[in-house]
Amino acid sequence: MENIVRTKNINKEAILCALEENNINEEVILKTWREIVEIESYTHNKKAVENVCAYVEGRLKDLGFETRTIEFDKAGPTLVGEMGQGDPSEGVILTGHMDTVHKDDFIKDFPFRVEEGKVYGPGVLDMKGGINIIFYVVEMLKSLGYNKPIKVLISGDEEHGHGKSGSGSVMAEEAKGYKYALNFETGLITNDIVVARKGMMHCAIRTTGLSAHAGANFDDGISAIKEMSHKILEIQELNGKFGPTTLNVGTITGGTVVNAVPENCEIKLDIRYVDNSVLPAVKEALESIVNKNYVEGTKSDLIIENTFPAFPNSLNGKLFEKAREVSSKLGFGEPKGAKIGGASDAAFITQAGVPCLCALGAKGEWNHSNREYALVDSAMERILFITNLIFELEGMEL
Ligand SMILES: [Zn+2]
Repeated sequence: MENIVRTKNINKEAILCALEENNINEEVILKTWREIVEIESYTHNKKAVENVCAYVEGRLKDLGFETRTIEFDKAGPTLVGEMGQGDPSEGVILTGHMDTVHKDDFIKDFPFRVEEGKVYGPGVLDMKGGINIIFYVVEMLKSLGYNKPIKVLISGDEEHGHGKSGSGSVMAEEAKGYKYALNFETGLITNDIVVARKGMMHCAIRTTGLSAHAGANFDDGISAIKEMSHKILEIQELNGKFGPTTLNVGTITGGTVVNAVPENCEIKLDIRYVDNSVLPAVKEALESIVNKNYVEGTKSDLIIENTFPAFPNSLNGKLFEKAREVSSKLGFGEPKGAKIGGASDAAFITQAGVPCLCALGAKGEWNHSNREYALVDSAMERILFITNLIFELEGMEL
């Protein structure tokens, strides 16, 4: 291939030539995919996330980024890489997270492997495949002469909702002033692009009663489990009262032995909402259930563990339309805009007033499980698609 004309009119052929010139092919992509997956990074293991952060930071430096990390006492760091001159209001943010839900050593049972066009391993889809794509997109942008600001923004504790770090607000702060963002979360197997996500609040309710021997002193005991049972039913009744908001009592623990009146009981709730404005009313309804006594002598507390805002689609209309057009032009199908339940950092980006599309990582299924896989050829497809999309968005008003 000779004499690539480096104009703003970058097309598929130009990107394919640049990939070839830079020796980027499936084998190379799989090699780095394996490297990043093999550095395990369980979301609650700060040291493990620091290890993968060092790897990602090294890769970004090699690409020419100026990097810095924002550290937290109890959670993995957030990594920021910046490149390019000019006004951020013309710049793009490439974003995601580097922690996974998979516990330490899970890779021993679920090693990185490639089989029949699918790649398996912890975080291969959610979302180390996406981070790996970011590296090559940036390499292509550089190679093809892109000179607008690029910021890479990668959190280290997304999978437990930034509950121990507050890094969601760091993401929002870092995103401020940029033109748009692309989040490389788990790509959907349907080829759709995520344009909206539900918000999520996790909380616990702890109830205390009084322990007593179930045979000798039954009447002296105050059952925390009985109190909680009433509360659970009332909480479930809230479903349907706040539009599409859902409240799920996901876990319950309580009591110590079968022959004692239980002194303690705890439940954990997962609440999902489409509209952030519903939250105060939901909290108020929960508080009134928590403060109400069904069993005299019990005491209960509501503990809000973390809150993830909803990711609304009000800002990303033009961005999505352009993405659909570019995908179609490249022969990668016409993606639909999907509104899904799972939360992501895209919510914090839009809180900063920055349009964002989500789920642009490698495509696959079954994240958070031991069946997690991504389609090998979806990585190359995304590199072509996103590189072209970024060039097409240059100068376009969103
Ligand atoms: Zn994820």
